Amino acid sequence: MRGKALVVGAGIAGLAVAHGLLREGWEVEVRERRGSPPDIGGALGLWRGSMVALDRLGLGARVRERAERPRRAVIADPSGRALAMVDPRRTDARLISRSSLLAVLVEGLPEGVVRWNTPVVGFDADTEGFDVVVGADGIHSLVRRTTFPEAADPRPLGTVAYRGAVPGRVEAATETWGRGRIFGVTPLDAHTTYWFACLRTTLLADRRGQDEVSLLRELYGDWHPMVAFVLDALPGAGVDRRELYDLPALASYVRGRRALIGDAAHAMAPNLGRGACESLIDASVLATALGAERTVHRALAHYDGRRRRPTRRVVHGSRVLNRVSTAVRLDGQRNHLIRALGSVL
Ligand SMILES: Cc1cc2nc3c(=O)[nH]c(=O)nc-3n(C[C@H](O)[C@H](O)[C@H](O)COP(=O)(O)OP(=O)(O)OC[C@H]3O[C@@H](n4cnc5c(N)ncnc54)[C@H](O)[C@@H]3O)c2cc1C
Repeated sequence: MRGKALVVGAGIAGLAVAHGLLREGWEVEVRERRGSPPDIGGALGLWRGSMVALDRLGLGARVRERAERPRRAVIADPSGRALAMVDPRRTDARLISRSSLLAVLVEGLPEGVVRWNTPVVGFDADTEGFDVVVGADGIHSLVRRTTFPEAADPRPLGTVAYRGAVPGRVEAATETWGRGRIFGVTPLDAHTTYWFACLRTTLLADRRGQDEVSLLRELYGDWHPMVAFVLDALPGAGVDRRELYDLPALASYVRGRRALIGDAAHAMAPNLGRGACESLIDASVLATALGAERTVHRALAHYDGRRRRPTRRVVHGSRVLNRVSTAVRLDGQRNHLIRALGSVL
């Protein structure tokens, strides 16, 4: 089937589905309220399923050119003692900066497909005449709110994330689990290290107004040398702070001629590092279905059937990991358990 699609939002999901639809012979218009894609910085791990999706979208080779192969990653306790190790080198996983991924997604689209500085404010005559509307407009999606007025709002996870990049390179990736807080350090490229901290909001109760660098030094200052390396490099490097939310399960990702993809459908805690990956898979599955099926109705039903359950499981797993990794009680027992599991696995 061929037709005309309106995509709301030019983040990872919206740009990716535009690629897929163009490959299927669809006419595509992407409307984005910002003047450029939403680069909130940092590194993204692209796991195997998302690399397969990128290959199907015709973008895998360009992403591999700009990405690194992730090295061995270690889960540690604050003293630096390893609790468990993950070795992603045997899979086709890649590590890429968000800005590089967005650049690949934008560069490959013909001029004029994305209309920047063009917010969608409602559905009226201006949005009629499209065979399908794809809501790729993120966690606070207007398409979701107007198409599923009964859907619950995003729910706070009770955690806050800080992140950024500092000059210098570390050799291994570590994620360190302490009481109520974690700290991650990842090599990003030859000259840059990406870091993130995720902590319970209750730890911030008496620290309102404190600047971010001194707050992070207070909370993580006595952790092992890789964390200390980042903390020493923090002044002047820029820190992004955001409270974390995820989205309660929707009964469907499609209604009428509208479909939700990416965070609009299944925003999740960042702890499994899967939000962008799932967005790419959504885009590939939806575009392929719209190209292959005879009607929009059948294509959207196929997309919903393929993607809703798996993504709900990832949302749930991410939420559980967000809680467990930032547990304020029994963190000692938790770390013992992980160490035992790590040595068995
Ligand atoms: C702290 C943090 C760390 C993360 N780390 C990782 C990670 O390591 N790995 C990973 O895979 N994922 C990670 N994620 C998740 C990942 O960032 C998201 O899942 C992914 O960016 C979702 O892409 P999206 O295109 O669905 O939404 P978004 O990136 O939110 O894009 C939505 C777009 O829609 C636009 N828009 C919104 N409303 C309108 C409107 N009315 N009209 C027009 N345009 C509109 C917005 O401006 C935006 O450009 C992380 C998230 C956070 C918060």
